[in-house]
Amino acid sequence: MKKLVVITGASSGFGKELAKQFSEDGYPLLLVARRIELLEELNLPNTICKKVDVTNKDEFENAIRFAEETYGKTDLIINNAGVMLLGNIENQGANEWQQMLDVNVMGVMNGMQIVMDDMKESKCGTIINISSIAGVKPFGNHAAYCASKYAVVGLSEVVRGELSPYNVRVMRVCPGAVDTDLITHTTDEDIKKGYHEWKESTGVGSISVSDVAKTIKFAYELPQGVNLREIQIADTRQDA
Ligand code: NDP
Repeated sequence: MKKLVVITGASSGFGKELAKQFSEDGYPLLLVARRIELLEELNLPNTICKKVDVTNKDEFENAIRFAEETYGKTDLIINNAGVMLLGNIENQGANEWQQMLDVNVMGVMNGMQIVMDDMKESKCGTIINISSIAGVKPFGNHAAYCASKYAVVGLSEVVRGELSPYNVRVMRVCPGAVDTDLITHTTDEDIKKGYHEWKESTGVGSISVSDVAKTIKFAYELPQGVNLREIQIADTRQDA
């Protein structure tokens, strides 16, 4: 059997599609998210589903150790769980900043720390962190979201260097706008409307979760000695 793949935020969007594509190819999986019923609905073979909030390190670690008892040590973790609460820093509530920093940054760091020691010891393993084009370019009304996604780029690159002597890969993936539930959680209706208007005016809409998942799987399946450090992937029509 292939080695264990852990996917966070697998109840929706990129994570759900990644789960399907890795499963189709015979990988055993640990899927985590808060809405466990959506993970279980996928009904994938050789798959353990756990209700985990990635900001809770103990819960997250327990789920990974549980899956490793059945499938062996984690060979790939995709730290994908994230939230995008767009807002203007002038009036956005600090609770929304905190939520994005907790999930998008602390959640990723938790995932990295949980698997890192075993990967170092076995001199093998891959960590893929999902950032965003908003992690390499600034966008209006994205201040706190950009802060969280720039953080993912920064911390991924630091840890990539630190783990390189151990033959462990750290990759970061920076997708552009892709249709998922992500925007629906933004609470500012005007900003949400503006986001949809921008998508319509630019014609962004061709790229799918399948395109992104396929690319991530391709990067993982390169030989362990090859690290595709950063992937920026966006709709051809995306202007920024
Ligand atoms: P979705 O909203 O469709 O999926 C987000 C996933 O994250 C859900 O499965 C959700 O599961 C999970 N999640 C959120 N908070 C937590 C938490 N505290 N603990 C565990 N899981 C959590 O969005 P996408 O698929 O689009 O987003 C996936 C990643 O891709 C995010 O990091 C996002 O920032 C990034 N991204 C997305 C882009 C896009 O345009 N779609 C562009 C660039 C980056 P649940 O609610 O069940 O816990």
